[in-house]
Amino acid sequence: MNNERKIVSKFGGSSLATAEKINRVRDIVDVNPNRRFVVLSAPGKRHSGDTKVTDLLLEASEAINVDDRKRFSKSFKLIASRFQDIGNGLDQKDFVSALLDEVRSGMEDGRGKDWAASRGEWLTARIFAAHTRRHFIDAEEVIRIDEAGKVDPKSYQLIEEEMASENDKFVIPGFYGQNESGEVVLFAHGGRGSSDITGAVVARGVNASVYENWTDVDGIRFTDPRRVPGARFVDEITYAELRELGNGGSEVLHKDAVLPVKKGNIPINLRNTFNSNHQGTMIVTERESKEHESIVGIAGKEGFVSIQVSRDGMNEEEGVVEQLLYPFHAHGIAFEHIPTGQDSVSVLVHESNLQNGHKDALLQELEISLKPDELEVVSNIGLITLVGQSIRHHNGHVNELLYSALNKAKIKTNSSVSRVHGNSIVVGVENKDVTPAIKILYDRFSA
Ligand code: ASP
Repeated sequence: MNNERKIVSKFGGSSLATAEKINRVRDIVDVNPNRRFVVLSAPGKRHSGDTKVTDLLLEASEAINVDDRKRFSKSFKLIASRFQDIGNGLDQKDFVSALLDEVRSGMEDGRGKDWAASRGEWLTARIFAAHTRRHFIDAEEVIRIDEAGKVDPKSYQLIEEEMASENDKFVIPGFYGQNESGEVVLFAHGGRGSSDITGAVVARGVNASVYENWTDVDGIRFTDPRRVPGARFVDEITYAELRELGNGGSEVLHKDAVLPVKKGNIPINLRNTFNSNHQGTMIVTERESKEHESIVGIAGKEGFVSIQVSRDGMNEEEGVVEQLLYPFHAHGIAFEHIPTGQDSVSVLVHESNLQNGHKDALLQELEISLKPDELEVVSNIGLITLVGQSIRHHNGHVNELLYSALNKAKIKTNSSVSRVHGNSIVVGVENKDVTPAIKILYDRFSA
């Protein structure tokens, strides 16, 4: 298939919470004839105290599983009422009633938890397909999921075959597919938000020109708005930069949704259903760094601890780093990075990993295995990460701007935990200075 003008548009639960919102989704996909492949989640919350349809389905499935018919009936009523409201709003009352009967009998017949949980997506896609006169393609037919909850690459071929026709328009439910034994199973073992994976898999299967992921935010922000209120959105960011920002995209996008599209060199466009004129954020393989966009984001986290081991002549010994890291592995402690000096090596870990006696045990083991002259534990470390692919080429310049801005504000930096690596610069400060430092760096680098 050629990928000219093929857009896969995935909509999240908040975009599908009511009939009115579903009509907004219809308008968005209708306005661009290239939006031929629509992947849908299940209706989310209508207001802050509301419950997502997937949670209602899980509750009903649990009730039927323990044969609590009363509880099942009660929770199924809530599900039915959500969909009846949607059906009434879209003039599809009878169709929706018939679909609900099918779901209810399936659950009563013991089709299982994954089948039940996936019915929110199934119902929504069936209703949307009828409402917009698009072809409904059941994810069961085209999506194969392996034992690890990941996509089985067979899916790509099935998708390509099923959706080969040049002009047809399709609706595919997210979240689920079929396993080797032909049962309905969920992506990421039911990990929440995994309809994003379906969107990515469909995009790869049809070789889309772009994978649009529509939610209720304008994209990725330069930094966390809890630190810098109103922090601006980023137009373009590479997959690598996104990873270095430390979330792999997980706050905006399910992490397993990145690989299929990245491998197919398909950009992701994060868009906002409720602000559809905003172009959102493009996630791409390569971007041209414009001067003012040399830095694309800043992340920060408090609560790191540095465990520093010093001994004369340490840098000349072989295998010291391996010996040092062994107890960390043995305790299952993940480390952030390992700054090394002449006669010392430190391991930077998050304090949450050192609780429940892990810290004392670890220090004791390090004393025995490394016999250090000094074993020092420094806490109260916050890390700030600046990300931008141009750091690779101009890190001297960025460093200079960064340290002069922090010095001017009298923010103390901890050079023994700072580093430059690939697309990013990490600076250590005291915990209390993380937010003030990010504010200063935001002003310096985001304009
Ligand atoms: N409806 C599922 C959930 O609530 C899957 C998804 O929305 O992506 O997590």
